Amino acid sequence: MNKNPEPTYILVAEDDPTNQFVFRKILEKAGFEVLIVEDGQKALDACAVRRPDLILLDMMMPVLNGYETASSMIQDERLDGIPILALTANAMRGDEVKTRAAGCDDHIPKPVQMVLFLQKIRDWLSADPAAWMAHRLAKRRPPETAVG
Ligand SMILES: [Mg+2]
Repeated sequence: MNKNPEPTYILVAEDDPTNQFVFRKILEKAGFEVLIVEDGQKALDACAVRRPDLILLDMMMPVLNGYETASSMIQDERLDGIPILALTANAMRGDEVKTRAAGCDDHIPKPVQMVLFLQKIRDWLSADPAAWMAHRLAKRRPPETAVG
């Protein structure tokens, strides 16, 4: 066992202050290191600074919403192997399909139920990327033809 393991680092993109407070409280209490940003562009910027172990994305955010953010993230191979979980207030079937189509690996309905929320996060953190990355790669668009 590693005596001083790096804390598992979770990036949360969520614009609602109440949800930000709740997510920070639950995740920090569970021992995770947490960075909360309030829009999708800031989430992309944060990924460039430090690779998260898992990303939680609210779908309805200013600047760059969760769908746009996930679509962008799955194009970036530096983010391969990082689970991207959608947080959505619209607990509707069609919504889950939409989040997956955008590139999210799973879906957590809000308001979150703490035990299930943490279980889902731990399940994804312990999942072998080899088992699920194929689904993401299938959604990745081919690179644009180089210009010049
Ligand atoms: Mg929102």
